[in-house]
Amino acid sequence: MRCLLCESWSWSHICNTCRQDQLTPSFYTRTITGKLSVHSFYKYDEIEPLLLTKHTDLGFHIYRILAKTAFGMYAKRFETDEPVAVISVDDHARHGYSHTALLARAMKREQLLPRFGMLRDRSGHRYSGKDFQFRLTHPRQFELKPFPEKRVILVDDILTTGLTLTQAVECLEMAGKEVLFCLTLAEADHQF
Ligand SMILES: [Zn+2]
Repeated sequence: MRCLLCESWSWSHICNTCRQDQLTPSFYTRTITGKLSVHSFYKYDEIEPLLLTKHTDLGFHIYRILAKTAFGMYAKRFETDEPVAVISVDDHARHGYSHTALLARAMKREQLLPRFGMLRDRSGHRYSGKDFQFRLTHPRQFELKPFPEKRVILVDDILTTGLTLTQAVECLEMAGKEVLFCLTLAEADHQF
């Protein structure tokens, strides 16, 4: 096949050269709820064409590459003595796979335990393309299933207003969980 970015022949959808040149993750940090850090590996604009594959068949492969490059690398360096649950926000399989579950899965290590289908939004609201006002007046209704770990890393794909993560954190804290921080693939400076 050809690399999506440079069109040279490649064994994968994105060749190794392009992964190194264009997908080396950065580390952007924002604070939500006045105390909690949200770390993102890319700026939305840097990888927008890749993120837009989310709702296509190609999206599965692209998200898996991004998950390994960013979340996998991060997990490799993360050290903890106690088990930590990696919880992906609303990991419904909408197009044959869940993109947030793919991100969480890439973090699996001895003490980092991705748990799927734990945090689901029952509101039915879709935020994509909606403005801040809509998001404020149509809150998520997260439901949490029980899991044994107390400490949690919360994972989502795109950080916009931070409202979704804020509501997810509230839901986890109400259940007595301690959210260490959040990780998102890409941070957007604008709403869309
Ligand atoms: Zn390439």
